[in-house]
Order: sequence, then C-alpha cells, then structure tokens
Amino acid sequence: MPNCPECTAREKKKIIVKYEEETTEEDRGRDDLYKLFDTIEIPMKMDSATKHFICKRCGLYATREQVSDIRYKLSQKEKTREDKHDDYLEWWSKSKKEKAEN
Ligand SMILES: [Zn+2]
Repeated sequence: MPNCPECTAREKKKIIVKYEEETTEEDRGRDDLYKLFDTIEIPMKMDSATKHFICKRCGLYATREQVSDIRYKLSQKEKTREDKHDDYLEWWSKSKKEKAEN
C-alpha cells in the first residue's frame, strides 16, 4: 500500500525541524535526512469496492493516480525549497572561503 502523501510530507517537515534542532549545521547531511524519511510508514487502506485509497490519519481519499499526483506536486514543492537551500549553502561556503582568504 502506498504511504499517504499528505501525512508523509507533514512527517518529513517534523523530521527536518527535529533534525535541525538536534544536529549542528556542520554535521548535517542530506543522506541522514533521507534515511530518516525512509522510516516514515503511513500506509493507506485500499477500498476495494471503489478502488480508492484511504488514509486513516488525515482522511485523504484518492485513486492511485491521484495519490501519485499529490506526491509529485509535494515533491516539486520540496525540490524548489531544497534548491534554494543549496544556493544558500553555496553562498555560505563561498563567503566562508573568501573570509578565510582575506
Ligand atoms: Zn494522510
């Protein structure tokens, strides 16, 4: 059964907040975060009569196509945010290097 995309996105946000609270900036790694994301398990239930998936937690009711559509949209949002974060990191490490050189 697929994980509920909405609940998974919410859990990911919580994991990120917790991770950033507990881990200093130098020790943070995206792989660690992905490992934590893999532990998320919010499987949806299949309603065989209507061929819809139901999330017991948030009540999302969707077909397989809709589930992957929602997941795709949420991952696009996340990507944009990560790209911005990368830009920031790049800027940050560059400015640090420049500071060290001066
Ligand atoms: Zn849900």
